[in-house]
Amino acid sequence: MPELDNAWLRRHRAHDVVEITRRWKAVARRALMRVETIHPTAGGPVLFLKSRRMTDRPVYFCAGVHGDEPAAVQGLLVWAEARAEELRDADLAIFPLFNPAGILLNTRGDEGGHDLNRLFDSVTHPHMMAWQEAVRGLRPRYAVCLHEDYDAQGLYCYELNRDPQIRLADGLLERCSCMIPRDTRKVIEGRRAANGVIQRRRIAMIANLPEAVALYRAGAGSTLTFETPSEFDFALRTRVHAQFVQRVWEISKEAET
Ligand SMILES: [Zn+2]
Repeated sequence: MPELDNAWLRRHRAHDVVEITRRWKAVARRALMRVETIHPTAGGPVLFLKSRRMTDRPVYFCAGVHGDEPAAVQGLLVWAEARAEELRDADLAIFPLFNPAGILLNTRGDEGGHDLNRLFDSVTHPHMMAWQEAVRGLRPRYAVCLHEDYDAQGLYCYELNRDPQIRLADGLLERCSCMIPRDTRKVIEGRRAANGVIQRRRIAMIANLPEAVALYRAGAGSTLTFETPSEFDFALRTRVHAQFVQRVWEISKEAET
């Protein structure tokens, strides 16, 4: 494991899979959520937390598909720790550390060097097949994929909405931009962007699917892939992820009433 020189990072043991797993199990007990291990990996278990009342249309959160994006993992964790009791009657599906070996090693890929975010439709990778089995029949109302990007100059978000009237990313970024500004590049990752928002309306019939597209194809209402810039302060990035998750959580509750 590489030497980590950021004191905050060390204190929060952002790459300590055993510690992160322990904390999520504690959250699950307080939130009365069930915890499954969908797949054992060389780096540790891939956990799946489900609300006791999880329906087939939950709010879905996932972090740590890429192991070198630790603020996404910490942000989701500190959000859940801060309000575990509030989540008792929620309808949540959470994959809190999707790539344990990557987190442990601080690598993008898994222990085999695979970029898991190109394998969500894989019919040969056991970890990804276990995920497909775990989410079979789920059509999340909102699906949130938390990431970080070394090239980013600020916050950005891809969104896919089944209802063309719905636009979420702009408001979500606005809510977070007091901490880290938006990425104002006109083109991000080869796609046209407007103030950090990347809208996708049509999904190409491609293989090697990222998580958000696989979930959208499965029937998700809105998918949001949120990215923070890795070069910014770790504690700040963590807080921004927690804020993003909180706002999606609020939106999901507002939509119910
Ligand atoms: Zn990523």
